[in-house]
Amino acid sequence: MKAETDTHPESIQNVSTKLSRLGLVLLCVIACSPLSWGERVQKVQDRTATLATTDESLTLTAGGHSPKLVSLSGHAGSLWQNESEEVLPPSVDINGAPVPVTWTFQPKLASVDAHHVVFVYESAQPHLRLRWQWEARAGFGPIEHRITVENLSGQEIWLPLVDSMTLDWRSSPNLALRHLYVEKGAGTPSAEGTHLEPVSDGYKWMGRSTTYAHPVEGEGREIIPIEFVYGAAAPHAGWYAGIEFSGRTRITLQRNGGSLQSKLGLNEELGPFRTRVPANGSFETPTVFLGAFSGGPDGAGNQLRPWVRAVLNNPLTWKDPHYPLTVNNSWGSGMQVDEPLALRMIADSKNLGLEMFQVDAGWFRGVGDWYPDPKKFPHGLAAIADEAHRQGLRFGIWVDWTQAGLDTAPGALNVRDPKVRGWLVNDVGPDWKPEAFKGQTIDLGVPAAHDYAAKEVKRIVEDYHLDMLEHDGYLVAQACTRDDHPHAPPDRSTLRQTHDSGFDFALGSNSTDVSYHAVRAYYDIYERLRREHPGLLLEICNDGGRMVDFGSAAHGDYFSITDTYDPLSNRRAFYDTSYAMPAAMLESYVEKWPTPRPENFLYMLRSGMMGWITIMLDTTAWTPEQHDAARSAFALYKKDLRPLIRDARLYHVSQRPDGIHWDGMEYWDPARKKGVVFTFRGSIPDEPEHRFVLSGLNPQGHYRLHFEDGSAPDREASGSELLGSGLAVHLQNPLSSELVFLEETAK
Ligand SMILES: [Zn+2]
Repeated sequence: MKAETDTHPESIQNVSTKLSRLGLVLLCVIACSPLSWGERVQKVQDRTATLATTDESLTLTAGGHSPKLVSLSGHAGSLWQNESEEVLPPSVDINGAPVPVTWTFQPKLASVDAHHVVFVYESAQPHLRLRWQWEARAGFGPIEHRITVENLSGQEIWLPLVDSMTLDWRSSPNLALRHLYVEKGAGTPSAEGTHLEPVSDGYKWMGRSTTYAHPVEGEGREIIPIEFVYGAAAPHAGWYAGIEFSGRTRITLQRNGGSLQSKLGLNEELGPFRTRVPANGSFETPTVFLGAFSGGPDGAGNQLRPWVRAVLNNPLTWKDPHYPLTVNNSWGSGMQVDEPLALRMIADSKNLGLEMFQVDAGWFRGVGDWYPDPKKFPHGLAAIADEAHRQGLRFGIWVDWTQAGLDTAPGALNVRDPKVRGWLVNDVGPDWKPEAFKGQTIDLGVPAAHDYAAKEVKRIVEDYHLDMLEHDGYLVAQACTRDDHPHAPPDRSTLRQTHDSGFDFALGSNSTDVSYHAVRAYYDIYERLRREHPGLLLEICNDGGRMVDFGSAAHGDYFSITDTYDPLSNRRAFYDTSYAMPAAMLESYVEKWPTPRPENFLYMLRSGMMGWITIMLDTTAWTPEQHDAARSAFALYKKDLRPLIRDARLYHVSQRPDGIHWDGMEYWDPARKKGVVFTFRGSIPDEPEHRFVLSGLNPQGHYRLHFEDGSAPDREASGSELLGSGLAVHLQNPLSSELVFLEETAK
């Protein structure tokens, strides 16, 4: 993009020189003197700091009453200048009355090192302290930002909405810009999924995220909370910004003349947001991150995905060479799972070379009563886990641990229990009954409910000898009508009827605050669980792909990315989600699908094999030929595909899958000089051949091509051919696939 031409070429050169010399550095671009940084900023007018990674550099300045993000410089030389100062909360409510707040910079409290910049502002009356923080947690990739407000006043205050980040870039009206955003694969991936829009003058957009991902009429589907904005012309340089939070959030983007504005943070569309901050308590905005990139959306993704892995994900998970695992899940038999089926599936999993056996819903006595049904599992669940372990498999289960039901056995979470009743988001009627595996949600934001859930989750993991815990359903309350919970009480005038767990209740102006508290509690429970069980894997399902966001990426190990499991839905959800998240985190469930021919069978398996694969059908019903084909496919996955899924760069080298035409995905690992192209032929009968124009290769390089199924003889190709006319793939039949492996050769 050309943003730099109408801004400051000197400062770009300055930054890039310093970057190349120092790598990860902090530059205090203020008068050089032997004083400490705090003393310097007190003495000089230019209270400016720069925070950098190898991909970007941020210039930050502390004004007397408000801080400001001055600019974002990208590695490719782009420079984005921000026009507006941060808007700090102008008032708070105390005892129901607004009290104006004057924020003043506290240079002595500022702290700056190679990875952080923290500017501190205080209000004297009421006594509040605001920390405006930026952090570079990796030497590369984006920089994170959050604002914390501490209440030192000695009395309860109520804060209005504090946005996580407000951007107001100066941009030449002639600069052609694009905006890419992706939907969650919740329910069934839509026909579009990946949105690429021109950002023309007057452009106005809002993307929303909650843990529910229910489409709202007129508002479209929920997004994975990240936006990518970049120049339409090469080198397609731009910036991206995302939210590390699973609660009710939104991102806005609009362009007017020379101004390009974006806001990221909690969503106050349902009504004015307010949140209680008790004496000595604090409020923290959802953490956001801001990155600069070139090379379009894949260029952004190839920076972002390794950053998610390095900064947000659990490092222990990635140390496990089996991650992402191959799994056999019992839901192919629905709620009918029992001990004989489980033992049969364990034996067949071992036979097929799968690495984990997962018991889905149906194993428990009842909703909220998370003990094995003695009729189905007379020897309990630990016995099943132990058998899986004896066969060299890991063991995981499904649970929806925030749901209360009607069971009365000891240990059950019962909605009629007076203690539990106080935790529910709403009273249930006298005739209320839970569904087969959904009950009434408890509000984790209530400390007693949080403590109960933390203990219960720990018990489940320990009693059942788990290697993996999948949480499903809706952990985070969508709304809450209680006025004695820590969140804001509902404002009755703003209520909207909604429907959850088969029960109507009200979505009100407090819903964002409800989600704020419940998400914090959920994160705390999982942080504790990880400390106590460091090797435990955590699957985030949440009704399939409704909770794919960067906050849950920091608290779980992999996502179920959609709730529809046919090959096309799996590929579509992967296509969309993989712009934002590491491929290894993206789980596709593979369900029963018509496979009259062997190539249809491989097509089905491979459509779920681009990230984490979980088989969700009764493999014991497979023919011996299908067993052999699956065994080979899983062996190939573990040996050759998994290393690429973990480490390779990813390129979206086709249109988004439509099931009719061809689609594909390229993985290229420059360190190993190896890659693979997943290619899929759609249903159209007269399209036997397709050319995939590849990316990320060396135009001067030479590559050995191996066609796994023998659809073409192995051959050599030049980089310029693969990047130019492309990789030709010919397949005899519709609904078939081929894996083309690439290896760079010395020639
Ligand atoms: Zn509540």
